[in-house]
Amino acid sequence: MSIERVHRYIDDHRGDALEALKELVRQPSISAQDVGVKECARHLADLLRHHGIAAEVLPTATQPVVYGELRRDPAAYTLLCYGHYDVQPPEPLELWETPPFEPAVRDGRLYGRGTADNKGQLLAHVLAAHAWLEAAGAPPVNLKFVFEGEEESGSPSLAPFVRTHRARLAADLVYVSDGGLHPSGAPVIALGNRGVLGITLVARGADRDNHSGNKGGVAPNPVWMLVHLLSTMVDPGGRILIEGFYDHVRPLGAAEERLLAAMDYDPRAFAATMGLETLPMDGITYWRRIMLEPYVNINGFLSGYVGPGAKTIIPSTAECRIDIRLVADQTTGDILQKMRRHVAQVEPRVQVLERGFGAMEPSRTSPDHPAVGVVARAIEACRGVRPSIILCMGGSLPNAVWPTVLGVDHIGVPYANADENNHAPNENLSLERFYDGIHVSAQVFQALGDAAARRTLPRR
Ligand SMILES: [Zn+2]
Repeated sequence: MSIERVHRYIDDHRGDALEALKELVRQPSISAQDVGVKECARHLADLLRHHGIAAEVLPTATQPVVYGELRRDPAAYTLLCYGHYDVQPPEPLELWETPPFEPAVRDGRLYGRGTADNKGQLLAHVLAAHAWLEAAGAPPVNLKFVFEGEEESGSPSLAPFVRTHRARLAADLVYVSDGGLHPSGAPVIALGNRGVLGITLVARGADRDNHSGNKGGVAPNPVWMLVHLLSTMVDPGGRILIEGFYDHVRPLGAAEERLLAAMDYDPRAFAATMGLETLPMDGITYWRRIMLEPYVNINGFLSGYVGPGAKTIIPSTAECRIDIRLVADQTTGDILQKMRRHVAQVEPRVQVLERGFGAMEPSRTSPDHPAVGVVARAIEACRGVRPSIILCMGGSLPNAVWPTVLGVDHIGVPYANADENNHAPNENLSLERFYDGIHVSAQVFQALGDAAARRTLPRR
């Protein structure tokens, strides 16, 4: 059977796969600092062409999209694989054991910025397509690849890009590999993502720093303004107190309730991936909080003097960066408005700025979608275990673009190890997980092609 030849080809070409990934990681592509992104786009397009896929670098208002296509038959099922070739800034550099853009293999993992998030994962789709071409002529589906260059900066141009190229991107399903597997290493399917809204709160007191003895108690302290304001937003248990905040949270359907109750949970193993001893909560609470509840996070606080020696001032300004994680069907526009109203009522001297990074909407595909079972069986065929279905990943991806702009549902199948250290020093991708990813992509192409031929999948 062709699929067996494809898997054998993948096994026989592990060395080439690793070299391709190393080369891609060597090219920095830090969207936040505009370092090397356009060079990386050109490199990635060359890599696609080298693997038999027609590719172009398509400009947007900001960073370019690398678009690839492998057409088999206009009547065949069309899968669009989404990924991002930009990476997070590597700082703090001193915490890396080997330099972030000099990929190095240690203990069965490839270390380097972007290995797991997301270069290794997007490359798995490309290498799977290539294996099909080499071992069996062509994959049984049409493939489209959209690799964007600024996911780590909030994907500001993805929605306009998809709108502009709607006809060209037409597909039956969007397939996304980003993020990590279950901490046990077991495969997962992720049906959604939380959204995110970044804001900065700015408080101003006097027009200069003041002596905290001579003026203390009289001059306004902007740090206290923010502390008081923040404490009215979230209670000590994490419940958000902003009026109307939970209004649009989508209730769970019956299948979703069942999946939530079946999620497995090991507080020690899960805690270990965060550098904690254990987690003081039960499994339902854990998964509900990460997948299905919004969260208001304080990212950082900037004010006053914390340098060496004594300096006693009432600072003139204070700034707090917040990211708000949203769940379906909340929208960033509505939440921003509610946040602004809350601040205006409680502490009108504080300014709310949309600053730091862009906004992404939440999105969640129904577990009843027929492609979910097809993809689950394909993963089981490769990994020997049925994947657990995660209703929603805690992190944010621009997945809402697919149903809202392109009119196509999305399924996420992460390929990285849970301790990939994405966004942190010593980011890494387990080589076994990388090769597994190539096998899974190849099998998913087969399974979707088969199911579509049997007309058991919805088409556009
Ligand atoms: Zn990331």
